[in-house]
Amino acid sequence: MHAADTSRYRRHVRFSHCACDGPRYGRPAGPLRPAAFLDRDGVVNVDFGYVRHVRDWHWIHGARAGIEWLKTQGYWVIVVTNQSAIARGLATEPQVLALHDWVLAHARVDAIYHCRHLPGDPCPARKPQPGMLQVAGQDFAIDWAHSFLLGDRDTDLEAAQNANIPGLLSTGDDWRAQVRDYVSRRTS
Ligand SMILES: [Mg+2]
Ligand SMILES: [Zn+2]
Repeated sequence: MHAADTSRYRRHVRFSHCACDGPRYGRPAGPLRPAAFLDRDGVVNVDFGYVRHVRDWHWIHGARAGIEWLKTQGYWVIVVTNQSAIARGLATEPQVLALHDWVLAHARVDAIYHCRHLPGDPCPARKPQPGMLQVAGQDFAIDWAHSFLLGDRDTDLEAAQNANIPGLLSTGDDWRAQVRDYVSRRTS
């Protein structure tokens, strides 16, 4: 990889961003890779409802190892999360971004996108709309044909369907084996 490519790549990884206003960069960078889109609450962290502080963040067992494994397989690991807590006044956007920056410092996630809107708001980013995934596609060079989403709700699977990628319903704690099986079946 050329030095220039490396700096471009670095500039596009490991950031948190609200997807409602569009992409962070709008210029796909980095090598073309498949993306593993992960829902946040219930997939990366335990869903206690409106988690907005580090003290309320409990990693799903095996999630960080699963993320690490996805990175060894060459995936972009991109978290896409509806955070209506912001619209509801239960969290501020800086609080959510600060929490996500903390997550980025503790797991090998490339980016965390959130939507701040309420169900029913006309925002194309809020799942089940595919906007957050599409916005990620404007920031990262994504091989869509080999990408997938892992979620724990129907709206996650619908977002995947709306983005024309497979959606996997997490079987719960420690989804590593589930994802490994899925990836090996797809690539064999
Ligand atoms: Mg969830
Ligand atoms: Zn939104």
